[in-house]
Amino acid sequence: MIPFQDLRKTNEVLMERLAAAAGRVIRSGRYINGPEVKAFEKALALLCESRYCVAVSNGLDALRLIFAAYKEMGLLRDGDEVIVPANTFVASFLAVTHSGLKAVAADVDDSTFCLDWTRLPLSPRTRAVLTVHLYGYPCWDAAAVEALRARGILVIEDAAQAIGARSARPGFRGTFAAGSLADAAAFSFYPAKNIGALGDAGAVVTDDSRLAATVRTLANYGAPEKYSHTLCGFNCRMDELQAALLSEKLPLASTTARERGRRARLYASLITNPEVTLPPLPSDGSLPAFHQFVVRHPRRDQLRAFLASKGVRTEVHYPVPCHLQECYNDHPLLLTPSPLPTAERLAGEVLSLPIADVSDADIREIAKLINSCPQK
Ligand SMILES: *Cc1c(COP(=O)(O)O)cnc(C)c1O
Repeated sequence: MIPFQDLRKTNEVLMERLAAAAGRVIRSGRYINGPEVKAFEKALALLCESRYCVAVSNGLDALRLIFAAYKEMGLLRDGDEVIVPANTFVASFLAVTHSGLKAVAADVDDSTFCLDWTRLPLSPRTRAVLTVHLYGYPCWDAAAVEALRARGILVIEDAAQAIGARSARPGFRGTFAAGSLADAAAFSFYPAKNIGALGDAGAVVTDDSRLAATVRTLANYGAPEKYSHTLCGFNCRMDELQAALLSEKLPLASTTARERGRRARLYASLITNPEVTLPPLPSDGSLPAFHQFVVRHPRRDQLRAFLASKGVRTEVHYPVPCHLQECYNDHPLLLTPSPLPTAERLAGEVLSLPIADVSDADIREIAKLINSCPQK
Protein backbone atom coordinates (compact mmCIF):
# COMPACT_ATOMS: atom_id res chain seq x y z
CA MET A 1 0.00 0.00 0.00
CA ILE A 2 1.26 3.49 -0.83
CA PRO A 3 -0.49 6.02 1.44
CA PHE A 4 -1.25 9.54 0.19
CA GLN A 5 0.66 11.07 3.07
CA ASP A 6 2.16 9.69 6.27
CA LEU A 7 2.42 12.49 8.82
CA ARG A 8 3.94 10.19 11.41
CA LYS A 9 6.83 9.54 9.05
CA THR A 10 7.31 13.27 8.41
CA ASN A 11 7.54 14.08 12.11
CA GLU A 12 9.27 10.95 13.38
CA VAL A 13 12.54 11.82 11.64
CA LEU A 14 12.56 15.06 13.69
CA MET A 15 11.51 13.35 16.92
CA GLU A 16 14.49 14.36 19.05
CA ARG A 17 14.40 18.01 18.07
CA LEU A 18 10.62 18.26 18.40
CA ALA A 19 10.67 16.56 21.80
CA ALA A 20 13.47 18.89 22.96
CA ALA A 21 11.49 21.94 21.77
CA ALA A 22 8.35 20.76 23.53
CA GLY A 23 10.35 20.11 26.71
CA ARG A 24 11.78 23.61 26.54
CA VAL A 25 8.28 25.12 26.47
CA ILE A 26 6.88 22.84 29.16
CA ARG A 27 9.73 23.76 31.49
CA SER A 28 9.51 27.49 30.69
CA GLY A 29 6.10 27.92 32.33
CA ARG A 30 5.22 30.40 29.59
CA TYR A 31 2.66 29.15 27.06
CA ILE A 32 1.17 32.21 25.35
CA ASN A 33 2.75 35.42 23.93
CA GLY A 34 6.29 34.45 24.84
CA PRO A 35 9.76 34.20 23.31
CA GLU A 36 9.04 31.15 21.11
CA VAL A 37 6.35 33.00 19.18
CA LYS A 38 8.63 36.04 18.85
CA ALA A 39 11.49 33.94 17.48
CA PHE A 40 9.21 32.14 15.04
CA GLU A 41 7.76 35.42 13.77
CA LYS A 42 11.24 36.74 13.14
CA ALA A 43 12.27 33.61 11.25
CA LEU A 44 9.13 33.56 9.11
CA ALA A 45 9.41 37.26 8.23
CA LEU A 46 12.99 36.62 7.15
CA LEU A 47 12.02 33.60 5.05
CA CYS A 48 9.26 35.64 3.39
CA GLU A 49 11.48 38.68 2.87
CA SER A 50 8.83 40.73 4.67
CA ARG A 51 9.07 43.27 7.47
CA TYR A 52 6.38 41.95 9.78
CA CYS A 53 4.93 38.63 10.81
CA VAL A 54 2.15 37.91 13.28
CA ALA A 55 1.84 34.26 14.34
CA VAL A 56 -1.81 33.26 14.68
CA SER A 57 -4.08 30.31 15.38
CA ASN A 58 -4.56 28.88 11.86
CA GLY A 59 -4.70 29.79 8.17
CA LEU A 60 -8.39 30.68 8.11
CA ASP A 61 -7.92 33.06 11.05
CA ALA A 62 -4.87 34.57 9.33
CA LEU A 63 -7.04 35.46 6.33
CA ARG A 64 -9.94 36.65 8.50
CA LEU A 65 -7.64 38.85 10.56
CA ILE A 66 -6.26 40.49 7.41
CA PHE A 67 -9.78 41.37 6.23
CA ALA A 68 -10.90 42.45 9.71
CA ALA A 69 -7.80 44.64 10.08
CA TYR A 70 -8.37 46.32 6.71
CA LYS A 71 -11.93 47.07 7.88
CA GLU A 72 -10.64 48.59 11.13
CA MET A 73 -8.22 50.67 9.04
CA GLY A 74 -11.10 51.92 6.88
CA LEU A 75 -9.70 50.35 3.70
CA LEU A 76 -12.52 47.81 3.39
CA ARG A 77 -16.20 48.19 4.24
CA ASP A 78 -19.17 45.86 4.63
CA GLY A 79 -20.33 44.63 1.24
CA ASP A 80 -17.13 45.48 -0.65
CA GLU A 81 -16.26 42.94 -3.33
CA VAL A 82 -13.27 40.63 -3.05
CA ILE A 83 -12.32 38.50 -6.06
CA VAL A 84 -11.47 34.88 -5.15
CA PRO A 85 -10.59 32.00 -7.51
CA ALA A 86 -13.37 29.39 -7.49
CA ASN A 87 -10.92 26.50 -7.40
CA THR A 88 -9.49 26.68 -3.86
CA PHE A 89 -9.99 25.32 -0.37
CA VAL A 90 -13.22 26.71 1.08
CA ALA A 91 -11.31 28.71 3.73
CA SER A 92 -10.41 31.32 1.09
CA PHE A 93 -14.13 32.04 0.61
CA LEU A 94 -15.12 31.69 4.26
CA ALA A 95 -12.57 34.32 5.26
CA VAL A 96 -14.21 36.82 2.91
CA THR A 97 -17.83 36.10 3.75
CA HIS A 98 -17.18 35.82 7.52
CA SER A 99 -15.83 39.37 7.27
CA GLY A 100 -19.06 40.75 5.82
CA LEU A 101 -17.43 41.17 2.42
CA LYS A 102 -18.75 39.83 -0.89
CA ALA A 103 -16.77 36.95 -2.40
CA VAL A 104 -16.79 37.23 -6.17
CA ALA A 105 -15.95 33.81 -7.61
CA ALA A 106 -13.49 34.01 -10.50
CA ASP A 107 -12.54 31.43 -13.08
CA VAL A 108 -9.01 30.02 -13.25
CA ASP A 109 -6.49 29.30 -15.98
CA ASP A 110 -6.54 25.61 -16.81
CA SER A 111 -2.78 25.26 -17.27
CA THR A 112 -1.72 27.06 -14.06
CA PHE A 113 -4.80 26.29 -11.85
CA CYS A 114 -4.54 29.93 -10.86
CA LEU A 115 -6.52 33.18 -11.24
CA ASP A 116 -6.64 34.37 -14.83
CA TRP A 117 -5.31 37.92 -14.36
CA THR A 118 -6.57 38.97 -17.80
CA ARG A 119 -10.17 38.03 -17.00
CA LEU A 120 -10.77 39.19 -13.41
CA PRO A 121 -14.46 39.87 -12.70
CA LEU A 122 -13.76 43.48 -11.75
CA SER A 123 -16.61 45.86 -10.92
CA PRO A 124 -16.74 49.41 -9.55
CA ARG A 125 -17.16 47.79 -6.09
CA THR A 126 -14.04 45.60 -6.29
CA ARG A 127 -11.81 46.50 -3.36
CA ALA A 128 -9.53 43.47 -3.07
CA VAL A 129 -8.26 40.39 -4.89
CA LEU A 130 -7.37 37.26 -2.92
CA THR A 131 -4.83 35.37 -5.01
CA VAL A 132 -4.44 31.73 -3.98
CA HIS A 133 -1.09 30.01 -4.54
CA LEU A 134 -2.89 26.73 -5.18
CA TYR A 135 -0.83 23.55 -4.85
CA GLY A 136 2.12 25.82 -3.98
CA TYR A 137 2.34 27.63 -7.34
CA PRO A 138 2.87 31.34 -6.76
CA CYS A 139 -0.10 32.95 -8.50
CA TRP A 140 1.30 36.37 -9.21
CA ASP A 141 1.45 38.66 -12.20
CA ALA A 142 3.57 41.62 -11.10
CA ALA A 143 2.21 43.99 -13.76
CA ALA A 144 -1.41 43.05 -13.04
CA VAL A 145 -0.86 43.38 -9.28
CA GLU A 146 0.70 46.83 -9.72
CA ALA A 147 -2.17 47.96 -11.94
CA LEU A 148 -4.71 46.82 -9.35
CA ARG A 149 -2.87 48.52 -6.50
CA ALA A 150 -2.64 51.73 -8.54
CA ARG A 151 -6.46 51.66 -8.60
CA GLY A 152 -6.58 51.28 -4.82
CA ILE A 153 -7.45 47.58 -4.97
CA LEU A 154 -5.75 45.50 -2.27
CA VAL A 155 -4.04 42.28 -3.32
CA ILE A 156 -3.81 39.59 -0.64
CA GLU A 157 -2.00 36.27 -0.94
CA ASP A 158 -3.54 33.06 0.33
CA ALA A 159 -0.13 31.42 0.73
CA ALA A 160 -1.43 28.55 2.89
CA GLN A 161 0.02 26.00 0.44
CA ALA A 162 3.08 27.96 -0.61
CA ILE A 163 5.59 28.20 2.23
CA GLY A 164 9.09 28.40 0.73
CA ALA A 165 7.82 29.04 -2.81
CA ARG A 166 9.51 31.70 -4.95
CA SER A 167 8.30 33.47 -8.05
CA ALA A 168 10.31 34.79 -10.97
CA ARG A 169 9.38 38.13 -12.47
CA PRO A 170 9.99 38.84 -16.15
CA GLY A 171 12.73 41.44 -16.59
CA PHE A 172 14.01 41.07 -13.03
CA ARG A 173 16.92 39.06 -11.73
CA GLY A 174 16.40 36.67 -8.86
CA THR A 175 13.11 35.51 -7.47
CA PHE A 176 10.58 36.79 -4.96
CA ALA A 177 9.28 34.90 -1.92
CA ALA A 178 5.65 33.88 -1.65
CA GLY A 179 4.31 36.10 1.11
CA SER A 180 6.17 39.16 -0.17
CA LEU A 181 4.36 39.51 -3.50
CA ALA A 182 1.45 41.77 -2.58
CA ASP A 183 -0.04 43.76 0.33
CA ALA A 184 -0.37 40.95 2.86
CA ALA A 185 -0.22 37.17 2.99
CA ALA A 186 -1.72 34.38 5.06
CA PHE A 187 0.08 31.11 5.81
CA SER A 188 -1.24 27.89 7.32
CA PHE A 189 0.72 25.35 9.33
CA TYR A 190 -2.03 22.74 9.40
CA PRO A 191 -0.23 19.41 9.96
CA ALA A 192 -0.54 18.28 6.32
CA LYS A 193 0.89 21.50 4.85
CA ASN A 194 4.53 21.53 3.66
CA ILE A 195 5.59 22.86 7.06
CA GLY A 196 3.07 21.50 9.52
CA ALA A 197 2.51 22.13 13.21
CA LEU A 198 1.43 19.34 15.53
CA GLY A 199 -1.96 20.98 15.69
CA ASP A 200 -3.34 24.18 14.17
CA ALA A 201 -1.26 27.28 13.45
CA GLY A 202 -1.02 30.09 10.92
CA ALA A 203 0.58 33.46 10.27
CA VAL A 204 0.09 36.86 8.67
CA VAL A 205 3.01 38.42 6.82
CA THR A 206 3.19 41.99 5.49
CA ASP A 207 5.41 45.04 4.95
CA ASP A 208 2.67 47.33 6.28
CA SER A 209 3.38 48.26 9.91
CA ARG A 210 -0.16 49.50 10.54
CA LEU A 211 -1.72 46.34 9.18
CA ALA A 212 0.65 44.17 11.24
CA ALA A 213 -0.09 46.11 14.42
CA THR A 214 -3.85 45.94 13.82
CA VAL A 215 -3.74 42.19 13.12
CA ARG A 216 -1.67 41.65 16.27
CA THR A 217 -4.10 43.66 18.37
CA LEU A 218 -7.19 41.96 16.89
CA ALA A 219 -5.68 38.51 17.47
CA ASN A 220 -5.06 39.34 21.12
CA TYR A 221 -8.54 40.39 22.33
CA GLY A 222 -8.14 43.78 20.70
CA ALA A 223 -5.58 44.73 23.34
CA PRO A 224 -2.28 46.32 22.30
CA GLU A 225 -1.47 46.28 26.02
CA LYS A 226 -2.90 44.12 28.75
CA TYR A 227 -6.43 45.20 29.78
CA SER A 228 -6.45 48.09 27.37
CA HIS A 229 -8.92 47.02 24.68
CA THR A 230 -8.84 49.43 21.77
CA LEU A 231 -10.63 47.08 19.35
CA CYS A 232 -13.29 44.40 19.75
CA GLY A 233 -10.83 41.61 18.99
CA PHE A 234 -10.60 37.85 19.02
CA ASN A 235 -8.42 35.19 20.56
CA CYS A 236 -6.45 33.99 17.52
CA ARG A 237 -2.92 33.57 18.87
CA MET A 238 -0.38 30.91 18.02
CA ASP A 239 0.73 29.21 21.23
CA GLU A 240 4.32 28.86 22.41
CA LEU A 241 4.30 25.09 21.94
CA GLN A 242 3.37 25.23 18.24
CA ALA A 243 5.82 28.09 17.68
CA ALA A 244 8.66 26.11 19.24
CA LEU A 245 7.84 23.02 17.15
CA LEU A 246 7.50 25.10 13.98
CA SER A 247 10.83 26.82 14.59
CA GLU A 248 12.44 23.38 14.30
CA LYS A 249 10.68 22.73 10.99
CA LEU A 250 10.71 26.14 9.30
CA PRO A 251 14.37 25.93 8.15
CA LEU A 252 13.25 22.96 6.01
CA ALA A 253 10.84 25.05 3.92
CA SER A 254 13.14 25.61 0.94
CA THR A 255 14.63 22.12 0.91
CA THR A 256 11.12 20.67 1.19
CA ALA A 257 10.01 22.68 -1.84
CA ARG A 258 13.10 21.63 -3.81
CA GLU A 259 12.77 17.98 -2.87
CA ARG A 260 9.09 17.96 -3.83
CA GLY A 261 10.05 19.68 -7.10
CA ARG A 262 12.53 16.90 -7.78
CA ARG A 263 9.83 14.29 -7.15
CA ALA A 264 7.46 16.21 -9.44
CA ARG A 265 10.03 16.15 -12.25
CA LEU A 266 10.59 12.44 -11.69
CA TYR A 267 6.84 11.81 -11.99
CA ALA A 268 6.72 13.99 -15.11
CA SER A 269 9.59 12.12 -16.73
CA LEU A 270 7.92 8.75 -16.13
CA ILE A 271 4.23 9.38 -16.84
CA THR A 272 3.57 8.73 -20.54
CA ASN A 273 -0.16 7.92 -20.50
CA PRO A 274 -1.48 10.19 -23.32
CA GLU A 275 -4.76 10.82 -21.47
CA VAL A 276 -2.94 12.34 -18.50
CA THR A 277 -2.13 16.07 -18.45
CA LEU A 278 0.84 16.91 -16.24
CA PRO A 279 0.99 19.99 -14.02
CA PRO A 280 3.23 22.90 -15.06
CA LEU A 281 6.93 22.58 -14.25
CA PRO A 282 8.18 26.16 -14.48
CA SER A 283 11.41 26.83 -16.34
CA ASP A 284 11.61 30.57 -15.58
CA GLY A 285 13.43 30.10 -12.27
CA SER A 286 10.26 30.07 -10.16
CA LEU A 287 10.26 27.53 -7.34
CA PRO A 288 6.76 26.31 -6.52
CA ALA A 289 6.32 24.64 -3.13
CA PHE A 290 4.68 21.62 -4.86
CA HIS A 291 2.27 21.22 -1.97
CA GLN A 292 0.38 18.87 -4.29
CA PHE A 293 1.35 17.11 -7.51
CA VAL A 294 -1.86 17.31 -9.51
CA VAL A 295 -2.46 15.55 -12.82
CA ARG A 296 -5.60 15.81 -14.92
CA HIS A 297 -7.50 12.99 -16.57
CA PRO A 298 -10.82 13.12 -18.48
CA ARG A 299 -12.10 10.09 -16.49
CA ARG A 300 -10.44 10.96 -13.20
CA ASP A 301 -12.65 8.77 -11.00
CA GLN A 302 -11.79 5.72 -13.11
CA LEU A 303 -8.05 6.41 -12.83
CA ARG A 304 -8.42 6.99 -9.10
CA ALA A 305 -10.34 3.74 -8.60
CA PHE A 306 -7.76 1.84 -10.69
CA LEU A 307 -4.90 3.19 -8.55
CA ALA A 308 -6.85 2.43 -5.36
CA SER A 309 -7.36 -1.17 -6.55
CA LYS A 310 -3.56 -1.42 -6.79
CA GLY A 311 -3.06 0.00 -3.30
CA VAL A 312 -2.18 3.60 -4.26
CA ARG A 313 -4.06 6.26 -2.30
CA THR A 314 -4.77 9.55 -4.05
CA GLU A 315 -6.82 12.66 -3.23
CA VAL A 316 -8.91 15.21 -5.10
CA HIS A 317 -8.21 18.89 -4.47
CA TYR A 318 -10.97 19.94 -4.81
CA PRO A 319 -14.00 17.94 -5.97
CA VAL A 320 -16.49 20.84 -5.71
CA PRO A 321 -15.59 24.45 -6.56
CA CYS A 322 -16.39 26.79 -3.68
CA HIS A 323 -19.22 28.68 -5.42
CA LEU A 324 -21.09 25.35 -5.80
CA GLN A 325 -20.71 24.29 -2.15
CA GLU A 326 -23.99 23.87 -0.30
CA CYS A 327 -23.06 26.51 2.29
CA TYR A 328 -23.11 29.12 -0.50
CA ASN A 329 -26.54 28.19 -1.92
CA ASP A 330 -28.34 31.54 -2.22
CA HIS A 331 -25.77 33.14 0.08
CA PRO A 332 -26.10 36.93 0.01
CA LEU A 333 -22.32 37.43 0.12
CA LEU A 334 -21.42 35.02 -2.71
CA LEU A 335 -21.42 36.43 -6.25
CA THR A 336 -20.87 34.47 -9.43
CA PRO A 337 -21.14 37.17 -12.09
CA SER A 338 -20.21 34.91 -15.00
CA PRO A 339 -19.95 31.16 -15.68
CA LEU A 340 -16.80 29.44 -14.39
CA PRO A 341 -16.32 26.64 -16.92
CA THR A 342 -12.63 26.00 -16.25
CA ALA A 343 -12.95 25.75 -12.46
CA GLU A 344 -15.97 23.46 -12.86
CA ARG A 345 -14.23 21.21 -15.40
CA LEU A 346 -11.01 21.01 -13.33
CA ALA A 347 -12.97 19.82 -10.30
CA GLY A 348 -13.89 16.70 -12.30
CA GLU A 349 -10.42 16.11 -13.75
CA VAL A 350 -7.82 16.80 -11.05
CA LEU A 351 -6.10 14.03 -9.14
CA SER A 352 -3.41 14.60 -6.50
CA LEU A 353 -0.72 11.91 -6.42
CA PRO A 354 1.38 11.18 -3.30
CA ILE A 355 4.26 13.68 -3.05
CA ALA A 356 4.78 14.50 0.64
CA ASP A 357 6.88 11.52 1.67
CA VAL A 358 6.97 9.03 -1.22
CA SER A 359 10.18 7.27 -2.21
CA ASP A 360 11.51 7.31 -5.77
CA ALA A 361 10.66 3.62 -5.98
CA ASP A 362 7.02 4.43 -5.08
CA ILE A 363 6.96 7.17 -7.72
CA ARG A 364 8.22 4.70 -10.34
CA GLU A 365 5.56 2.21 -9.28
CA ILE A 366 2.77 4.83 -9.39
CA ALA A 367 3.87 6.12 -12.82
CA LYS A 368 3.97 2.56 -14.16
CA LEU A 369 0.44 1.95 -12.90
CA ILE A 370 -0.82 5.21 -14.43
CA ASN A 371 0.74 4.26 -17.78
CA SER A 372 -0.94 0.87 -17.64
CA CYS A 373 -4.39 2.19 -16.68
CA PRO A 374 -6.84 0.70 -19.19
CA GLN A 375 -8.26 3.32 -21.56
CA LYS A 376 -12.05 3.73 -21.63
C1 LIG B 1 -5.15 25.00 4.42
C2 LIG B 1 -5.67 26.17 3.68
C3 LIG B 1 -6.29 27.25 4.33
C4 LIG B 1 -6.68 27.23 5.78
O1 LIG B 1 -5.68 26.93 6.65
P1 LIG B 1 -6.04 26.30 8.09
O2 LIG B 1 -4.78 26.42 8.84
O3 LIG B 1 -6.46 24.89 7.85
O4 LIG B 1 -7.14 27.10 8.67
C5 LIG B 1 -6.63 28.35 3.58
N1 LIG B 1 -6.43 28.40 2.26
C6 LIG B 1 -5.86 27.37 1.59
C7 LIG B 1 -5.63 27.50 0.13
C8 LIG B 1 -5.49 26.22 2.27
O5 LIG B 1 -4.96 25.20 1.60
